[in-house]
Amino acid sequence: METYNCNDCSMEVKGLTCGKCESELVYAEIGDNSIGVSQCPNGCGKIKSPMCCGTDMSPSN
Ligand SMILES: [Zn+2]
Ligand SMILES: [Zn+2]
Repeated sequence: METYNCNDCSMEVKGLTCGKCESELVYAEIGDNSIGVSQCPNGCGKIKSPMCCGTDMSPSN
């Protein structure tokens, strides 16, 4: 399960889940600006990754 961390504070978000198929969303970076998104591995769709302190949160493994 991926935990998203904020680089500026100690905020963490754990385990985003797809509401349709209940799969864990997978972090990915898309586009020229490497925008962080969390997408369903089964193709249901994707959402913007969580934000904190004005920046994208990304998982640290
Ligand atoms: Zn923060
Ligand atoms: Zn899904």
